[in-house]
Amino acid sequence: MWRCSRPVPVALRRLSGRSAELRAWRWGSTTACERALQYRVGEKMHGYTVSQVTPVPELFLTAVKLDHDGTGARHLHLAREDSNNLFSVQFRTTPMDSTGVPHILEHTVLCGSQKYPCRDPFFKMLNRSLSTFMNAFTASDYTMYPFSTQNPKDFQNLLSVYLDAAFFPCLRELDFWQEGWRLEHEDPTDPKTALVFKGVVFNEMKGAFADSERVFSQHLQNQLLPDHTYAAVSGGAPLCIPDLTWEQLREFHAKHYHPSNARFLTYGNFPLEEHLRQIHEEALSKFQRIEPNTAVPPQQRWEMPREHHVHCAPDALAAGSPRQTTVSVSFLLPDSLTGPRAANWSQIYLGQKREGSFSNILIGCHSGSFASHALPSRAGAWCERDRGVGLSARCAMDFLITDARSTHPRIFI
Ligand SMILES: [Zn+2]
Repeated sequence: MWRCSRPVPVALRRLSGRSAELRAWRWGSTTACERALQYRVGEKMHGYTVSQVTPVPELFLTAVKLDHDGTGARHLHLAREDSNNLFSVQFRTTPMDSTGVPHILEHTVLCGSQKYPCRDPFFKMLNRSLSTFMNAFTASDYTMYPFSTQNPKDFQNLLSVYLDAAFFPCLRELDFWQEGWRLEHEDPTDPKTALVFKGVVFNEMKGAFADSERVFSQHLQNQLLPDHTYAAVSGGAPLCIPDLTWEQLREFHAKHYHPSNARFLTYGNFPLEEHLRQIHEEALSKFQRIEPNTAVPPQQRWEMPREHHVHCAPDALAAGSPRQTTVSVSFLLPDSLTGPRAANWSQIYLGQKREGSFSNILIGCHSGSFASHALPSRAGAWCERDRGVGLSARCAMDFLITDARSTHPRIFI
């Protein structure tokens, strides 16, 4: 939630309309926060327009929000007197199947780009850079590429590699076969051996779904939000990954990795204007605005509770493998991000994070009304181990989960 902007200082108002003087005054300031406070709503620089300037004294930072005029890309800069500067670009990636296209794309864009067509420029930077963090993540409905560094030149270099990777990747067919999936002989030197599926993401997801808790939480989200992208496995279900083609991967990139579908974040004490100039010149100025239509519509509510059972192999390392049944009662919550109750849910989240109070109210004691109604009648006596409750904010629609792992195999029969 954005705070109200601070009134413009008197001295700044006097400088209104004189941009050269304003810029000189800005860089005469000593701290990143002070410089950021001198941006004005409506001010234009390097293809962007400032839309909001907000001091956040509790966190010792000033937030500057900007829109890119040509593409609609949005940028949030958090100016703070911290030398560990951060950049991140995020795209809303909303797959409608479980082929793992956003996950395979996340891997493949890092395999070479137009300006850096060498093998894996991202990984080559790991031992050439002074970065304090480099990575990429695929979530249920977004993909992000963050890095951080304390060196201004290193920041420029990494920004160049990241921008080119995200917006101008080579996406070669061989990279797709390597990172996604392929058929290969068990012994690649012997064509008489059996054909097997291989691929970096294919193998990664086989490993992920060997974890019963991962299987459980994935099915829970898919079943509770079945109408749109949250019904899919964004990382890729091993049985579905071989349905993906190289052409589909390229189409997904063209639609989702576009500035009109992107959010940029920068943080630290390096100059914002230099970040904006580089992002505009090296990437955004080469695109026209589109309507990506990647938003996720609200989940339709249903009238009656629904049940879903999922089977998986027991955890061989856990004691008492026949007693690993897990039950969950989950509820889709009101729209916390855009709905009228946003403020209330925000307070609940803060309360939960601060004291665990929300969880305690619900199931913290045996006589708690929520626990006695939500869990099966006999569960209280048997579910002393691994009982939990939590709010999931992994996607745009939040849900409340209570779960319990049975210590008795017949409890849920
Ligand atoms: Zn991966």
